[in-house]
Amino acid sequence: MSSFKLTNSLTRKKELFKPINSKNITMYACGPTVYDSPHVGNARTLVVFDTLFRVLKMIYGENVTYVRNITDVDDKIIEISKKKNLSIDKITNSITEIFHADCKSLNCMEPNKEPKATDHIKDMIEMTASLIEKNFAYENKGHVYFSASSFKDYGKLSNKNLDELKSGSRIEISNLKKNPIDFVLWKPSKIDDPGWDSPWGKGRPGWHLECSVMSEKYLGKNIDIHGGGLDLIFPHHENEIAQSRCNNSTKSFANYWVHNGFVTTNKEKMSKSVGNIVTISNAVRKYSGQVVRLALLSAHYSQPLDWNEQLLNSQKNTIDKWYNLYEKENNVNILQISEFLLDDLNTPGFIAKIHALYNNALKGDKKSKILFNSACRLLGLFDLNKAEWEDFKRTNIKVSDKFISKKINERLKARKSGNFKLADEIRDELLSNGIIIEDEKGKTNWKFK
Ligand SMILES: [Zn+2]
Repeated sequence: MSSFKLTNSLTRKKELFKPINSKNITMYACGPTVYDSPHVGNARTLVVFDTLFRVLKMIYGENVTYVRNITDVDDKIIEISKKKNLSIDKITNSITEIFHADCKSLNCMEPNKEPKATDHIKDMIEMTASLIEKNFAYENKGHVYFSASSFKDYGKLSNKNLDELKSGSRIEISNLKKNPIDFVLWKPSKIDDPGWDSPWGKGRPGWHLECSVMSEKYLGKNIDIHGGGLDLIFPHHENEIAQSRCNNSTKSFANYWVHNGFVTTNKEKMSKSVGNIVTISNAVRKYSGQVVRLALLSAHYSQPLDWNEQLLNSQKNTIDKWYNLYEKENNVNILQISEFLLDDLNTPGFIAKIHALYNNALKGDKKSKILFNSACRLLGLFDLNKAEWEDFKRTNIKVSDKFISKKINERLKARKSGNFKLADEIRDELLSNGIIIEDEKGKTNWKFK
């Protein structure tokens, strides 16, 4: 078996990957909270773990089980539902649909299981009751809290000591807690909010609980890899470890914790709260799924990745060039030439290797051409055949930023001179190209249909 190395957030070291059972590799990645369209920051987690899934399959064959959850009960969902006056189901279903379309456009393989939190409330109630019974948790006025100090390894993943945590700003303050670092397992729901009957009254689970429950249900008490974005280390993953290990009396929950770095724009983390997001669907429409994918893999997964036009345009040129040597059927196992990927999923190194294979293939080396095509596919590229790629480029040029702003200016001129018929025609022309324009406070904004 080839030696595969991964950086383990738990030990902060690059380690040789030793599976619990090489006949069944188990991996869990924290999935989306379905309250708003996923953005490029979310896409990075999707693409990184999809690539890890592909590499594990290359090494271990089909014996890899990948679970990624859907969080469909959460305060943010309730908030949006009230703000937009839409039912919870309507929001979670439509965002889940968008999320699935995004995964497909990024050519992510489907995980083996994609459990939804609301389908596992009974299991979460059971785990909460069990943690109370074992004295790791306590109830107070319909709230159930996990007593963080009852777990000796609390803070190990995030490398924080308990005193540091107490003064941390991310701790939710509540008089109901015995200790500020305790975290919620179950909380009461208001009459109109989603809630389930439990021994502690009508309520809903805390977010951390669902991953502990679903990971155990589909993968077991001790799994190989658990991952997500860097921001999940604390408190989410720290709390998952505490819940699972205390409830199961185990020495380890996941043996390898893998976290991907942030996507930034102008050195600032891309996030909804900052307001600098690019949705996956907009990025894909503009550049194609595989260009977005290659851009996301252009930096090592553990490093920050700056999202900018220059990066995207250079990836697009690369993909376009690589299509010169596109072949439909060539796809062989390339474990022998995947040393970069086996070394902590070093995708920039592997991409450099693909460039070298391309250059050799261009000189007429047939073997390099086969390896080149297979290597592109291992990264999840070449999901479009050559004709489809040419087609994408043609339609893509039509809806370039330049084209859109030109049309918007023409429409503005037409309106100013009273030619509303022409203005409407321009609006319709943009619409037929999938662009919706809206006039607001004397400004014309546009978005994709
Ligand atoms: Zn999770």
